[in-house]
Amino acid sequence: MGKHHHDPIEFDESVPGVQKYWDTKQQYLKFETTVQEIEENWVKLDHNLFYPEGGGQPGDTGVLKIDDRILEVIDTQKKKDGVWIRIKGDGLSSGDHVYCEIDENRRLVLSRNHSGQHLLSASFYRLFEADTVRAELRVDESQIDLDKKLDMDEVTKAFDLCVEQIGESLDISTKILKKADLKKYNLRGELAKVGDNGIYRAVQIGDDRDPFDLNLCGGTHVGSTSEILSLSLSKIEAKKVRFTSGVASLEELTRRNAQNLRILRILNTSEDKMITTVRKLLDDQTANGRKINKMNTELLYYKFRDMDWIDGKDIRYKILDQIEGDRSQLGRIFDSLGEKEVMISRFSNGVITIASGSEEVSRRVFESLRKLGMKGGGKGKILMGKGKDLEWGDLEI
Ligand SMILES: [Zn+2]
Repeated sequence: MGKHHHDPIEFDESVPGVQKYWDTKQQYLKFETTVQEIEENWVKLDHNLFYPEGGGQPGDTGVLKIDDRILEVIDTQKKKDGVWIRIKGDGLSSGDHVYCEIDENRRLVLSRNHSGQHLLSASFYRLFEADTVRAELRVDESQIDLDKKLDMDEVTKAFDLCVEQIGESLDISTKILKKADLKKYNLRGELAKVGDNGIYRAVQIGDDRDPFDLNLCGGTHVGSTSEILSLSLSKIEAKKVRFTSGVASLEELTRRNAQNLRILRILNTSEDKMITTVRKLLDDQTANGRKINKMNTELLYYKFRDMDWIDGKDIRYKILDQIEGDRSQLGRIFDSLGEKEVMISRFSNGVITIASGSEEVSRRVFESLRKLGMKGGGKGKILMGKGKDLEWGDLEI
């Protein structure tokens, strides 16, 4: 689109403190103005419609066009003396006439997320009296911090209520209020103190008679709940709830639906039985693990039983080397040992166990193994060590 298509818009300054960027109408996304001041990469415009970061919503981005050059606007911030935009590169001078274009899609995504956040915050409050203490709106995933922890069922109920309101296509409108007016309205929270010169701005969802939500806010919003398109839960973490809205949410839901169907096919079950099926699988797995453990215990016991004893000085011993499993599976062997009978076992990871029916015998064998290079300590009838490279040939016990 050529520069001549930018219709100059009238900047109505009759109500001080009312910001034009609050109105996400097409004609406010492209405008022309003059550069007033430059400080390094920060530029102050005569008139500004870029939304400055605030209330959890990031600043607008976009481009400035001057003659044939295009300069990227990468951030917008509110400073003491007004709104400044940050540009990439340089070459601007004060007095330059510039054509400004706000990144429309990014603004729309953030407006959807912001409206979605109001809807969700209102639902959390209505259903569970959970107040929003902080909101972070981003292009991808946004986040609400609540003052109490809600469980998955509660959060899901709040999302269901939001989806209902999206279906109702409730108007999202704004009211400019004076401080004295604030008491007259049933405002949810007082999260954002907004506006200059005693002007407050409230964002309303629903009609005047019985609004679904009314909340002080200086952010950008869509005009109707139906424009949010969709809201979906991404994650619950303590008191934080993460969500997406708009096209990103629809894409996420489509992706998850496909994933769900694939899982249902693998599990060979229906959606209503999915959770029970997965729980049963996990329970079965635990039971099987126990069974395997028990079988290994038996197996090691019989293996040990069928080995020949090796004679020591006044004791006899057997060595179970390079075995798999875990130490708990040696229990049955421990129980079978007499006072002068010794079991030496080594797992493939090098862990060595020495056991006998007598503490004194176990200690003696343990010390002999330490002389061969085994590391370890402990006391009692069952002693532990480590020695992956230890050779049994030199053993004298
Ligand atoms: Zn807000």
